[in-house]
Amino acid sequence: MRQLCVIGDPIAHSRSPFLHNTMLRALGLDGEYAYTARRVPGGDTAAFLAAARAEGVVGFNATMPHKEHLVPLMDTLTDEARGYGAVNTVRLRNGRAEGHNTDGEGFLRALREAGLDPAGRTVLLLGAGGAARAAAPKLARAGAERVYVCNRTPERAAQLCAGDPAGRLAPAGMDGETLARLAPRCTLLVNCTSLGMEGTGGQFDDLSFVDALPGGAGVFDLIYSPAETGLLRRARGRGLPAANGLGMLIWQAVLALEFFLDRPLDGPAMARLLREAMT
Ligand code: NAP
Repeated sequence: MRQLCVIGDPIAHSRSPFLHNTMLRALGLDGEYAYTARRVPGGDTAAFLAAARAEGVVGFNATMPHKEHLVPLMDTLTDEARGYGAVNTVRLRNGRAEGHNTDGEGFLRALREAGLDPAGRTVLLLGAGGAARAAAPKLARAGAERVYVCNRTPERAAQLCAGDPAGRLAPAGMDGETLARLAPRCTLLVNCTSLGMEGTGGQFDDLSFVDALPGGAGVFDLIYSPAETGLLRRARGRGLPAANGLGMLIWQAVLALEFFLDRPLDGPAMARLLREAMT
């Protein structure tokens, strides 16, 4: 049996084993591959990689806190992984570790699937952490006119935007006044902060910026647990098209399995299968 896994700490909550094993079963590959979750503490990334090579693991996904640690440990990096400075998918073959990142493309596929193609839109993007680092440049490359990257710690937004050679990313703060000023210009709102996520306790104290978006603006919240955040509820209350992060979770897994198997899959069919399995 060829071994695949996801590493992280914590890892018990990870949906990756369910998603990957569901796809492997659908492809008739469950007798050939098994996908498990392994708790690997932050300081043990390199030790895990050495053990994985020795054990004959053929690929693994990585979540917090390993994504950045893996970058210098890879033999090769895809453009996506190099661009984000983070690896979420590793393929091990012929003694080489190939690092990839499916977060940005997974985000874009999910956005398009929800009918929220960013081309030609001005985007209000909240957050400047790992998820925002994948989403913001992807939006710019997919044809967004301008992406306002708004963050509680404005220096992190400035740092993220400094890496954009096309100059479409603009840093801003995330205070109520700034959001109220920018929202009327934006036809897409993307939440990349952890505000609204189950268990964090963090919530937006003021959602009035949602009311300041123009009619017809789209809202995408990367959070999928709960399925409907306060932000999405407010947007839907106004009749705005809105989607949660389940599609992104699903698509990043589909793209990771394509990378592990090194062959294209019927992505939309896989995504549909996973969505049905998860709801
Ligand atoms: P991260 O690197 O820890 O970044 C967290 C972001 O949230 C930062 O911008 C941080 O601002 C902001 N933030 C946290 N608490 C805040 C508060 N009280 N007030 C204002 N801003 C606050 O996390 P991440 O990896 O980017 O993940 C962010 C969210 O996206 C999480 O909820 C995660 O579950 C979700 N996500 C979903 C998917 C998916 O597949 N759907 C994939 C990746 C991430 P500062 O910079 O000021 O700290």
